[in-house]
Amino acid sequence: MAFDYDLFVIGGGSGGVRAARVAASETGAKVALAEESRYGGTCVIRGCVPKKMMVFASSYPAAMEEAQAYGWDVTTGPLDWPKFQQKMAGELDRLEGVYRSILSKAGVETFDQRATIADPHTVKLADGTTKTAKHILIATGGRPTRPDLPNAHLGIVSDDIFHLETLPKKILIVGGGYIACEFACILNGLGVDVTIFHRGAQILRGFDDEARGLVADVMRSKGITIHTGASILEMAPAEGHEANILTGSDASMGADAEMQADLADETSPKGAAIGPIWAKAMNGQEGVFDMVFFATGRRPNTDDMGLEEAGVALKRNGAISVDDYSQTGVPSIYAIGDVTGRVELTPVAIREGMKFVETVFKGNPTPVDHELIPSAVFTQPELGTIGMTEQEAIERDAGPVEIYATSFRPMKQAFADGTDRVLMKLVVDKESRTVLGCHIVAPDAGEMIQLAGIAVKMGATKEQFDATCAVHPTMAEELVTMRHPVRTA
Ligand code: NDP
Repeated sequence: MAFDYDLFVIGGGSGGVRAARVAASETGAKVALAEESRYGGTCVIRGCVPKKMMVFASSYPAAMEEAQAYGWDVTTGPLDWPKFQQKMAGELDRLEGVYRSILSKAGVETFDQRATIADPHTVKLADGTTKTAKHILIATGGRPTRPDLPNAHLGIVSDDIFHLETLPKKILIVGGGYIACEFACILNGLGVDVTIFHRGAQILRGFDDEARGLVADVMRSKGITIHTGASILEMAPAEGHEANILTGSDASMGADAEMQADLADETSPKGAAIGPIWAKAMNGQEGVFDMVFFATGRRPNTDDMGLEEAGVALKRNGAISVDDYSQTGVPSIYAIGDVTGRVELTPVAIREGMKFVETVFKGNPTPVDHELIPSAVFTQPELGTIGMTEQEAIERDAGPVEIYATSFRPMKQAFADGTDRVLMKLVVDKESRTVLGCHIVAPDAGEMIQLAGIAVKMGATKEQFDATCAVHPTMAEELVTMRHPVRTA
């Protein structure tokens, strides 16, 4: 049977664009791609990239303070938020242009509209036309969610934060994961009074306990209020300010749950309502905030895609079930990236896209390697991590574990009379000497873990770390100079 295309990709984010480009340019496949929003997807348009720009912007007041301690006669004036925002928007436009041009140069035909699955070899576009393809790749990503809570639509989500007309004075961030902690630090740096309500006992669940503890301590020392054991229970317009917030929809407490759930999944309108919102947590903590920001996780974009009708199985959380080669139960349909709910990181989606092309278009079946993925949380200080946490290493029950760790005030801080400490930590298998995990809390820990990650991924032993000469004076030199374990477990 003749198809319109060899490959039809749905979703123009990092994973989809990479797969489409490589399939077209390296294998000569006839490829099309549909994107309903902006090219570049979450990472480029409403995630990693603008977030990192905000990290940079937010770091200047502390840098100025430090500069003063070094003797510089400098002061920080107010941030011109609209100016920064305009520049950021321009940079994102430029990057979106790069993504479009990558596709067109590779000969990928693009459709700027929503696409759904009509059958295992047919895609239906929003304009009603259909296209057939030998293979369909779903790379539709995910979106932020709000908790199922009356008035949840009064809060913003991460997609909205880049479009605020003005910064709030006082914000409540709900959640304690990557996004909550990164934006708590960003907004704090930008001069916003930040409070976190996190339902768990400590922020950054899943990371090494010592590392998350230090990040939390430093965040608190910089003025961020973190309430743990604080599940959000209620929120409502603060008394006397209803008119500022209610914009047509019934936002009263206890409004119809279905409507709330629908609203809860939508991104707030541009410049989402800023007005006093009262919020209360399960543990009794309550307060009035200019804005509530839900950083309570993300959900795969699989709704109304025609997936189940075509026979594609979804997991309970709505993510697409795939095998090690990113193939769904329908042989012609594959899925990569956040929509599969495996590891929600851009470089992982890109790798999944490359392995898909290798498997399907280069005749070399290659599973995706999800082991030992380094990552960084761009808090201030950053947390860089790869491999097992101390707890995971102990729980794997495969022999004793040695912990090498040191926490200190780095030279730059000490000179400026700063109090921030950094942490360098290695989790080592006592018998084989393999470094099972590396955890760094420090300025630029993201850069450090990228490099330390190579050694850990190669299976380096503690002795091989130690055989590497220190680079002095640096913070990371501690990774190769820790002679004695602080404990064995
Ligand atoms: P996370 O899963 O990291 O964090 C979600 C947070 O919300 C958790 O603290 C969770 O608590 C809490 N939560 C979930 N549901 C509720 C609820 N109903 N009420 C209250 N709290 C709730 O998700 P994020 O949205 O922060 O980020 C999504 C993913 O995106 C990350 O997992 C990561 O893979 C990726 N990402 C990566 C970044 C990076 O590489 N630097 C940056 C940003 C995102 P609990 O811990 O108890 O479950």
